[in-house]
Order: sequence, then C-alpha cells, then structure tokens
Amino acid sequence: MPISVFDLFKIGVGPSSSHTVGPMMAAFKFTAALRDKQVLGQASRLEVHLYGSLSATGIGHGTDHAIIMGLLGERPDAIDPSIITPEIATLKETRRLALDRQVDIEFVWERDMIFHEESLPHHPNAMKLCAFDQDGRALLENTYYSVGGGFVVDQSQVDAKLEDMDTAKIPFDFNSAEELLAICKRENMSISQLMLENEKTWRGEQEVRNELWRIWQVMCECIDNGLTHEGVLPGGLNVKRRARQLHQRLIAAEQNTCLIATTFSAMEWVNIFALAVNEENAAGGRMVTAPTNGAAGIIPAVLHYYMKFQDGACERNVVDFLLAAGAIGILCKKNASISGAEVGCQGEVGSACAMAAAGLAEVMGATPEQVENAAEIGLEHNLGLTCDPVGGLVQVPCIERNAIATIKAINAAQMALRGDGTHFISLDKVIRTMRDTGRDMLDKYKETSKGGLAVNAIEC
Ligand code: SF4
Repeated sequence: MPISVFDLFKIGVGPSSSHTVGPMMAAFKFTAALRDKQVLGQASRLEVHLYGSLSATGIGHGTDHAIIMGLLGERPDAIDPSIITPEIATLKETRRLALDRQVDIEFVWERDMIFHEESLPHHPNAMKLCAFDQDGRALLENTYYSVGGGFVVDQSQVDAKLEDMDTAKIPFDFNSAEELLAICKRENMSISQLMLENEKTWRGEQEVRNELWRIWQVMCECIDNGLTHEGVLPGGLNVKRRARQLHQRLIAAEQNTCLIATTFSAMEWVNIFALAVNEENAAGGRMVTAPTNGAAGIIPAVLHYYMKFQDGACERNVVDFLLAAGAIGILCKKNASISGAEVGCQGEVGSACAMAAAGLAEVMGATPEQVENAAEIGLEHNLGLTCDPVGGLVQVPCIERNAIATIKAINAAQMALRGDGTHFISLDKVIRTMRDTGRDMLDKYKETSKGGLAVNAIEC
C-alpha cells in the first residue's frame, strides 16, 4: 500500500503518536461510524477497553484522555490542546459525556475505562470500543490498533490483511532503498523529485508544496512555544523544562563578543530546538509527528539548524528536506516499524534520525546514493535502542534522546557528503537488522515501562 509523506508528518498533539494521536483518531472514527450507522442517538453507554502497551503506559501517555476527546468528536489535527484537561475534569465530576458533542450519555470513569493486562494478538497497541443502547444491547463494537506514527487500523482491515485502504497507484513505487536508488538512476531524479511525483497521485504539486510548508510552520510554532513555556512538565516526575532558559543563556552568550559562532554553539542551537519540541510534546502541546511524537524533535531541529545557518535557505529546501526524509520513513515503516511498542526506540528515534540525516543530505546537494548513506549511518547507530520511558511518560529518556539524535543526524549527513555514496552496509540491511532486533527484544523494552530506565530510575 502506498504511504504518503503526509502519513508520516501529521499535525497532532502530544505526548505520543501511537498512544495519544492514534487512539484519539480511532475514537473519532468510532464516533463517525455510530453516526453513519444512524445509531448515535440511541447510544446510552460506552465501554473503552485498553490492551497491551496502551494499557501499560496509557495513563502516562494520555491515551484515556485522547480517546474521550475522540468520542467528543475532536480530531488530533484540529483540537485545541488546552481544552483537554478541563473537559476531562468536568467529565469525571459530572459522569456525563457528550458523544460527538450531540448525545449526552453516562460515563463512569472507574467502570467504563477498562485497562487489561493482556495484549491482543495483532499488535501491542490495541483498544476496543463498545456502544450500548439503554437496554444494554450492543449498537457497535470495533477493535482498533494504533500501529505507530498515528496510523490506525481496525479489525476489519486486519482481517482483510489491509493495513491501509488506500489503493492509489503511485508512479514510482519502491519497497527497498535498492529499488529507490535504481528508480532515481533510471529516471535521473533526486529522491525528493521522485517523492514529489508520487505525492502528485493524491494532490497537485502546489498543494503538496503548500501543505509541506504548513507542516513546517506548525513545527516552527512548536519550537517557539517550547522556547516560551517554562515550569515543570505534567505527569508527576517533576521534570523541569530547560529549553527556554538554555535559549536565553545562549542568546546572552552570543551577544558577548568573547563568544564566536562555532560548531559548538551551532550544536547548542540544535539541542535547544530539539528540547523545545519534545518538552512541548511532553506537555501535550500542538506538534507534528515526525514520524512519531516521541521522536518529533529530531527533524524540526535539524531542519531549523539548516534554515538558520545555511545562507540562502528557502521554502524549496524545506519541501525537498521533508520529501527526502519521508522516503526514508516509508522504508522504515514498510520494512520494519516506526513504533516503539513493536521494535523499541530504534524504530522511533532511529527512524527519525535516519530521516533527518537524509533530509539534510538532500538539501546539501547529496546524490541519492549519499542520501541513502546518510540515512544508513543515522539508523545504524541507533540499532538496539530500547523503549523504556520512566513512569510511562514521554520525558525521560525521550526528551534528551531527541537532542542527541539530532547531532547524530547532522554528523551522519556530513560523513555521507564527504564520501561518494559507496559504503559497507546498505540501508536495507540496517532496516532489516532493526526489524530482527526488535523481534528479539523482550516486551519489557517495548513501551511497556517494565524494564530498563523505567524500573532502574525509581530505585534510590
Ligand atoms: S523511549 Fe523512545 S520510543 Fe519510547 S517513548 Fe521515548 S522516544 Fe518513544
């Protein structure tokens, strides 16, 4: 099934694409299905069942709150994040839920929001939604799987072995980096040009450019918000926001004539951009999956770095960067996973690092082979990375991990640009290794908060 760059870069809310954005979208779809079946008005009670990783770390990721928002008829790309906390408080107090903002039903949190220890067979991120009429008869029941990056499939799609109902035919379909490079060579195209031609399957060229520019604007707003907000992040770990203070210190230091612009200060800028995005994500703010929420700081930080430090950087570069990054995200998703619950953090931060390295190499004038090399370096050095968020919150180690990965991505692009594109291990082999390593990884390292830092951090 073809994947669009807009499937990877989706406007949403924090803190998690698989645990917040996906579940909200699933609940929104369920509500729409009740409407389509013309049974919305008969609904009297609802049950929400959470399984596997959605149950284990759902509270820390705001999964329960996101589902309620979807049941209210809110979409992750349109919701005002500031309404979530007060709406949930009101619902818990009144025990009333305005389904689709139309039908007032009873919702008793302790009874109707049900956390199950077990996982469902298809995917660790599963949820079941059931609506009943006033006599307790089922009106609609569906199981949804949040498969990473905000992608959602329901039981019927799983049964039909269709992860996506999109059957569009794209002109340059590719399932491996080898195929991607062969098409680029045959058609004498860059990776971003090839991706643009594919995107034209769904939208006109100008619309693709405008939409990618809009994605970039939301990324920039997210950075700005992260540089403005201060205080302690929600969730109970008492993690302090750092981006604002570090930003102010850096500006002051740069005004000091003793400090000249060095590679070191450029690195500080990149760190701050990544911290800003991930702090905003952890606080439940508006942001863009890139390709997930947990790893959302890497691509905006690297692109911001390019736009800030590269003379003549312009809108066209933003579009090319995101298109080339998207090609690598598609390969990771098709051949391994971008979900921490499936393959650990290598699938989230590793994929984002590879994507950012590829995007940067592309706009720095790399050949397709050098872009592939940059992505390969970016991913290779994140292999084996586990997902072990402390307290089930996307804060520790996630926030700093994004900053570290931005530096890796820039380094990977630089190393690839110094070479001629030939290298020892192909990107395809590294992606395959990520898939196999993820398969061998114990579940406690796959977004369950039952292993790694999640258990050791609270020892004292
Ligand atoms: S450890 Fe990595 S995969 Fe897990 S929640 Fe944090 S950023 Fe996401």
